[in-house]
Amino acid sequence: MTDRELINMAVEASKNAYAPYSHMRAGAALECADGTVVTGCTVENAALGATVCAERAAVIAAVSSGRRRFRRLAVYSRESADYLTPCGTCRQVLSEFSPEIEILCVRADGRYVSYRLRELLPLMFSKEKFE
Ligand code: ZN
Repeated sequence: MTDRELINMAVEASKNAYAPYSHMRAGAALECADGTVVTGCTVENAALGATVCAERAAVIAAVSSGRRRFRRLAVYSRESADYLTPCGTCRQVLSEFSPEIEILCVRADGRYVSYRLRELLPLMFSKEKFE
């Protein structure tokens, strides 16, 4: 792959950027050691300081491929004996796209509980605050 081809992939990735606040639609193309190129894009949030856990990585991958709506999320860690819930920042990031998403909080033994995001993040800070 040439430099130009890699740059073009970054350009394509930027078309999926979600940047309603800064309006700077950035894209990135990362060539991996095995030759795979992974692309990413700007994924802003109404709470501007948010950055990345498993849940947010999933959101960013989805948004980078043009998907901004989600129905359900399962979150699991084999190290979590209790039901694993998304951290506050991940809740905020999910609310940007799907305030009604169902979240399956799974514990190490495979049991899970289900919540709506609004239950986990009442009085969420939303993009409507910018309108
Ligand atoms: Zn998190």
